[in-house]
Amino acid sequence: MKRLIFLFFALLMAGCGPLDRDPEMVTIRGLVFGTYYTIIYYDDDGRNYQEPIDSLFREFNQSLSFYDKNSLLSRINRNEETAVDEYFEVVFKRSQEVARETDGAFDATVFPLVDTWGFGFSDRSALAAEKVDSILNFVGHEKVWLDDGHIRKADERVQLDFNAIAKGYAADLVGELLESKGVTSYLVELGGDLAAGAEKPDGSLWRIGLEIPAKAADAPQEWEYYVEISNQGLATSGDYRRYYEDEDGLRYSHTIDPSTGFPVDHHLMSVSVFAPDGMSADAYATAFMVMGLDQAKDFVENREDLEAYFVYATEETEGFGYHASSGLKLMTRDDL
Ligand code: AMP
Ligand code: MG
Repeated sequence: MKRLIFLFFALLMAGCGPLDRDPEMVTIRGLVFGTYYTIIYYDDDGRNYQEPIDSLFREFNQSLSFYDKNSLLSRINRNEETAVDEYFEVVFKRSQEVARETDGAFDATVFPLVDTWGFGFSDRSALAAEKVDSILNFVGHEKVWLDDGHIRKADERVQLDFNAIAKGYAADLVGELLESKGVTSYLVELGGDLAAGAEKPDGSLWRIGLEIPAKAADAPQEWEYYVEISNQGLATSGDYRRYYEDEDGLRYSHTIDPSTGFPVDHHLMSVSVFAPDGMSADAYATAFMVMGLDQAKDFVENREDLEAYFVYATEETEGFGYHASSGLKLMTRDDL
């Protein structure tokens, strides 16, 4: 599910005399939330922070994992618990803000629909379309709220799902952990969602290739444009690697439009969002997939803090086109 490609270029380190202490580049890789992570940072002593990072992920999962039946989220979804912890509170509050700002295009209560359409724990229900109306009775961000550290629900069937925002948030938390160790120059990538710290010690920015849509889910990654980032989050949502195809070859996206209860069905194939932090980038990317190209374009142009890169399907030979928001600088191989 990775849709962004890191570009590694030779590091030209000038003046590496024996007394100079050039920061060392450290790369850590691992598995988390059913996907891969890559963390790159510069540290004067080349220290390895895999252990505290993995323990952060464990703590995070105990709070927010959707798949761990004992996580706080699972217990809140089963109405066995109402008190939230700090991770939960932060991600819940941001989810509710983005839900309000996007008129409910992003909605963390959408899980019962996600599940019915076959992207949760269950196989796709043959009666999914017929079930939508009754499920919509307990979907909606206004049906759940925080009251003095406790989750309250208007209907006990309301369930929360932070899949569309948690990866970005976790990337931010890794960044914060590194900063607490004195590391400022880093790039954290979790399953395609990124949080970038300050530029590299040589002053260059982090270069990220923007992937071209693949014809098949397992096709190799290719890029045409790249961007340079620092001190921001970048997340991509899209359905060209994650969809369900029925007997008639119809594709169902895993992004659900909370206003209709149906999987989104328009020509927007993927959107990459640049935001001040990874959590926001992640949430808006999902919201934009729901809005579709025209509405999302307007939304971004009205926001100083956001930029976006859209890939949409066309009838033309290549099968897809791009649109970059006005503040985004796309670079090509010629710029290298
Ligand atoms: P992302 O890859 O960040 O766009 O997240 C997609 C996941 O978020 C899906 O697999 C669902 O679990 C969940 N989801 C689907 N539709 C929505 C929506 N409209 N708002 C919030 N979460 C959603
Ligand atoms: Mg998202």
